[in-house]
Amino acid sequence: MAKKEFKSESKRLLDLMINSIYTNKDIFLRELISNASDALDKLYYRSLTDKKIKVKKDKLEINISFDKESRILTISDNGCGMTKEELETNLGTIAKSGTLAFKENMTKDEKASIIGQFGVGFYSSFMVSDKISVLSRSVDSDEAYLWESKGVDGYTVKKAEKDSIGTEITLSIKDDDEEFNYSKYLDEYELKQLVKKYSDYISFPIKMECMHHHLVDEKEKKYEDHKEVETLNSMVPIWKKSKNEVTDEDYDNFYMDKFSDYDKPLKVISSSVEGMTSYKALLFIPSHAPYDYYTQEYEKGLALYSNGVMIMEKCSDLLPDYFSFVKGIVDTEDLSLNISRELLQESQSLKLIAKNIESKIRKELEKMLKDDRDNYISFFKTFGVQLKYGVYNNFAQDKDKLKDLVMFYSAKHEKLITLNEYVSEMRDDQEAIYYASGSSVEKIKALPQVEQVRDKEFDILYLTDYVDEFCITALQEYEKKKFVNVSDGNLDLESEEEKEANKKVNEDNSDLLKAMSEEIKEVSEVKFSNKLKTHPVCLTTKGDVSIEMQKVFDAMPNDMGIKAETVLEINEKHPIADKLKKLYKKDKDEFIKYTKILYSEARIIAGLPIDNPTEISKLICDVISK
Ligand code: ADP
Repeated sequence: MAKKEFKSESKRLLDLMINSIYTNKDIFLRELISNASDALDKLYYRSLTDKKIKVKKDKLEINISFDKESRILTISDNGCGMTKEELETNLGTIAKSGTLAFKENMTKDEKASIIGQFGVGFYSSFMVSDKISVLSRSVDSDEAYLWESKGVDGYTVKKAEKDSIGTEITLSIKDDDEEFNYSKYLDEYELKQLVKKYSDYISFPIKMECMHHHLVDEKEKKYEDHKEVETLNSMVPIWKKSKNEVTDEDYDNFYMDKFSDYDKPLKVISSSVEGMTSYKALLFIPSHAPYDYYTQEYEKGLALYSNGVMIMEKCSDLLPDYFSFVKGIVDTEDLSLNISRELLQESQSLKLIAKNIESKIRKELEKMLKDDRDNYISFFKTFGVQLKYGVYNNFAQDKDKLKDLVMFYSAKHEKLITLNEYVSEMRDDQEAIYYASGSSVEKIKALPQVEQVRDKEFDILYLTDYVDEFCITALQEYEKKKFVNVSDGNLDLESEEEKEANKKVNEDNSDLLKAMSEEIKEVSEVKFSNKLKTHPVCLTTKGDVSIEMQKVFDAMPNDMGIKAETVLEINEKHPIADKLKKLYKKDKDEFIKYTKILYSEARIIAGLPIDNPTEISKLICDVISK
């Protein structure tokens, strides 16, 4: 029979995993048990909605057995099983998305992180086994199939015999070597410990035949060993236990297992509500973004249970988009087990739960910001973009809920601050919340327009994320203080005399300025300005669209042609101003060259592309070679 190859990326990932010293080999067991538990959940749920499928809940179980001699460890379940096709698709591909970033010479951490990101589940068994066999019969099929693989080389699938529905996974445990004692996975005590540690909360019994030492003759003190089936787990779902029964480590392990993360969560939120609606929720904020978080493929949602039985793996209605990074489970008695998806969406209980959960997460984040700022900042660096997106998404209807959770980089403090912090430090003579945007803090710092505001010792929020300015625009104001872009044409920071003087300069030179603006059609105006200190020129904007926003629009696939209305400002105190005045009188050709060069300079400073670089560089050379 032909051996099938793993998809190429899966192969590389598998290779990486088998050959890198992934620190925690123990996890393979919890991965297999967790898969088995999911399969039992699925079968039970199917039986509720499909009358042809008959299942007794108390017969659903997971079995572990081992044989030291032949070095075989078996994990079996009587869950939904897999068809031939499912065996091929589920166990033939590891990396479900084609965006794995493999590099040459990766460090141990980088390898572990790649492996971890993909929640390699089933495949982690290759860390401890030379060969894996999966014998499975699906609830939807009368035939059983056997999937077998010795690792990277590929796998085979053939028809096989199996009396009942379910899956049996047989691992040929590796021989011990200098580095690792694989035999621990063939040891009763060790296996019991592992199940207790990682899989105690699993709601189905995990059974194993264990050795019992029985006293058979009191007088002779004679003992006899015999085997007895034991249930190794307590089966109480972790969210049903009271908080003082559960350690932080239990929560972390549950999270890592359930949501296939290699890292502990940043924050655990547990809540138990009784009243109009009753539910228990156990929520987690991951410490890093899932690899597909910022892609279309990412599905938000919480696992939904009806009194301990899972009815939906990812219920998206339970989370608003701006909290889509939250993982977790909700268990309620208010929803019936066999509720259809359509009815579920309409359910008032579900809506109420979702509303409560939204406000719970928000309060916890607010608390974290207040009491545990470092952790909050770490959270914000990972998921802040999502919150800022939430401010302006859906016609900004949620902005008031989120405005105190967003942070921006402060020029004065040189770190992230909240809007509340900015406003509370505003001076009496400060009218507005100033911000400036650009692709990096360094670049913003160098903007000519920033100088004038910083000179007055007003703080400026430096916006470096592409969503920042959309967020600010949606907010419009914070505590009645308007947001003002330092690149906005009417910053209005000059005194009345300065304004008058500037007005006069512009009036006196109106012909010159008109000639310049006729030369550069893209700008709506050219003017002399007194707000620049050292820089000769800058581009400012009029209206709602700033230069940074225009860049975002330009980068969108469906360019809507939204453009910023720009103004070229020339520093009236800079020697270049006099030079222009002279040339305008004496040498019109030269005047036009200068105009074009100055406009290009302003574009470069604003981070905008030059459409005619060859022409401009020639002009520069003409001028400097004189
Ligand atoms: P994950 O569990 O993260 O989806 P795995 O690689 O562990 O990834 O498993 C891949 C898929 O194989 C599962 O999603 C499931 O559909 C199927 N599977 C694994 N183990 C079993 C099992 N014991 N019974 C039925 N299906 C299973």
